[in-house]
Amino acid sequence: MEWVCPICNGMASYVVKCSECGNQMEARGAIQDYFDDYSPYLSQYITKQNDGVDSKRCVHLFYCSNCRDDKRITINEIKM
Ligand SMILES: [Zn+2]
Ligand SMILES: [Zn+2]
Repeated sequence: MEWVCPICNGMASYVVKCSECGNQMEARGAIQDYFDDYSPYLSQYITKQNDGVDSKRCVHLFYCSNCRDDKRITINEIKM
């Protein structure tokens, strides 16, 4: 049994509407794909995940091309 992110594994898709303009936001992938080890964003998440065994979340980035703004969405991982 392993915790996996359903979105990273292509088992589900997640539709996010922009709260500003209602546009469907573009899925940009998991946040760890976008920041390197030295990024303050990533180290924040890594720190969180390394704190305990309880790391069952994956953070994904969504982008609104209208507003040129992005949003981080926390996805709950599932056991399989
Ligand atoms: Zn993911
Ligand atoms: Zn927007």
